[in-house]
Amino acid sequence: MADYDYIIVGAGSAGCTLANRLSEDPRHKVLLLEAGPKDNNFWIHIPVGFNKLLNNTRYNWCFNTEPEDSVRGRSIPIPRGKTLGGSSSINGMLYVRGNPLDYNTWSQFGNRGWSYDSVLPYFKKSEHFEGNGDATRGLGGPLNVANMIEQHELLDAVIDAAAAEGYPKNPDYNNGKQEGFGYYQVTQKHGRRWSTARAFLDPARSRPNLRVETDALTTRVILDGKRAIGVAYTQHGQTHEARCGREVIVAAGAVKSPHILELSGIGQPDRLQSFGIAPLHALPGVGENYRDHFAPRMNWRGKLPITLNEQTRGLNFAREIIKYFCLHRGILTYTAGIVYGFVKTRPELEECDVQYHFAHASYATAATRILDREPGMTMTTYQCRPESKGSIHLKSPDPAAHPAIRPNFLAEAMDRQTVVAGMKISRRIMQNAAMDKYRAHEMNPGPKVQTDDEWLEFARNNGQTTYHVIGTCKMGNDKMAVVDDQLRVHGVAGLRVVDASIMPTMVSGNTNAAVIMIAEKGADMIKTATEQLQAAA
Ligand SMILES: Cc1cc2nc3c(=O)[nH]c(=O)nc-3n(C[C@H](O)[C@H](O)[C@H](O)COP(=O)(O)OP(=O)(O)OC[C@H]3O[C@@H](n4cnc5c(N)ncnc54)[C@H](O)[C@@H]3O)c2cc1C
Repeated sequence: MADYDYIIVGAGSAGCTLANRLSEDPRHKVLLLEAGPKDNNFWIHIPVGFNKLLNNTRYNWCFNTEPEDSVRGRSIPIPRGKTLGGSSSINGMLYVRGNPLDYNTWSQFGNRGWSYDSVLPYFKKSEHFEGNGDATRGLGGPLNVANMIEQHELLDAVIDAAAAEGYPKNPDYNNGKQEGFGYYQVTQKHGRRWSTARAFLDPARSRPNLRVETDALTTRVILDGKRAIGVAYTQHGQTHEARCGREVIVAAGAVKSPHILELSGIGQPDRLQSFGIAPLHALPGVGENYRDHFAPRMNWRGKLPITLNEQTRGLNFAREIIKYFCLHRGILTYTAGIVYGFVKTRPELEECDVQYHFAHASYATAATRILDREPGMTMTTYQCRPESKGSIHLKSPDPAAHPAIRPNFLAEAMDRQTVVAGMKISRRIMQNAAMDKYRAHEMNPGPKVQTDDEWLEFARNNGQTTYHVIGTCKMGNDKMAVVDDQLRVHGVAGLRVVDASIMPTMVSGNTNAAVIMIAEKGADMIKTATEQLQAAA
């Protein structure tokens, strides 16, 4: 006897969106299982708290990559949200839809219904844009998108410097035309983080047909032959099973969704057997096609004490705290990147191939995130659509153990060339006369780095990620595809994956907006399938 119609695994960007949309119809009983606790940490809700959550093991899975030669043996941190809202509760809040080319590429792979024109209505449905948008932007949706509240003379100067170097100002990079520089738009409301827990889950919490369980780690999907019928999970030391009549929807994110499928016996049979897991359904693509935005960060010493390095100390900071709590303004509303840039590294390109984040702040090391004491600035550079592919797989049959993450960054020549070309453009922009008043000198990599080989070596030694893991349960119809274009797991009835892992290729931007779009579209697919079944009955 089924307890629920739908069981959603993971209350992240996708999971909260799905929980709202699927429970809109009071006839459908929905269970949402989240491994992490409630999102009641103070720093989740204050934008500048982003930094405080990067190493917080209660609200963040704090995964790390396996050391790889391509990054000179380093193990790179891969933070992922572990609370209601998932990564949207710990992310940098930058709202970026990507480029129409991204979705048209998915469609050209044979994924019906995923062209830009087909997905645009779902971006609009999710969104309420506070700024002046054209017809591509949404109004009245649950996800509040705001313009960056605070602007700053140094940030204006970078935008001017980019314009002087031939990269124009662009007032809205989310309307299908990305190229240029300007201030990021953010998922905030009145200066507070607007995670999917706030946007989608809160409005649905009082519905009697939605049950939300936190601290509930799903350990496997229960299969009856080739049909998913429920899940097993642990909560406060107890093991539970929940059964569903229609579908299990895995929305545990691009690190954990393939992990859960493998723990359930779905994946590469030899690999599963080697960990003592009975292979119940062979799918070679589970955990493959890993992609992320690999991002070296360049720093400059500033001339004037007007950067966040000084503004977040002593009396200055005390004044900012008062300003934030009285007016919901000031530097506590800042996020990880403040100014964006999208450029073409070669004029013949159809679309931009590099994205920048710029902030008037600098860290001594990216890992510790402790701001320098002297004035500083940081430009983060990454290739929009990297081609290098890595993997995520089990390294233990214990569901609580972290999987092995092997990104294989910079494996493709195009990725190496593009990241080097992108960093050279950063240096050129920062050397422009518009920055003379503000820039003292380049600290990292510094003037000693000149040749392409030296730039690449700097990237290998210093690059981190911008936290955009995708692709590990990719959508498609080739032998490495895990889900079809309705997001149904190939060969298993009653089981879908709906989250960042289904993206076949990287989107040109930060991934949260695209994940929410995927969940909006996935929810419609699930509801339509149910209606068709009911009509046929
Ligand atoms: C530090 C950081 C900064 C980022 N900055 C930005 C940004 O500025 N802009 C942007 O657009 N994107 C950003 N991203 C990326 C973006 O937030 C993610 O792509 C997006 O949130 C992924 O959504 P998801 O639903 O696929 O996974 P998630 O949101 O990660 O949700 C997965 C959920 O499943 C839960 N879960 C996992 N395993 C289990 C299990 N076994 N049982 C039960 N629950 C489970 C997790 O705890 C989590 O809550 C950032 C990400 C991070 C981590």
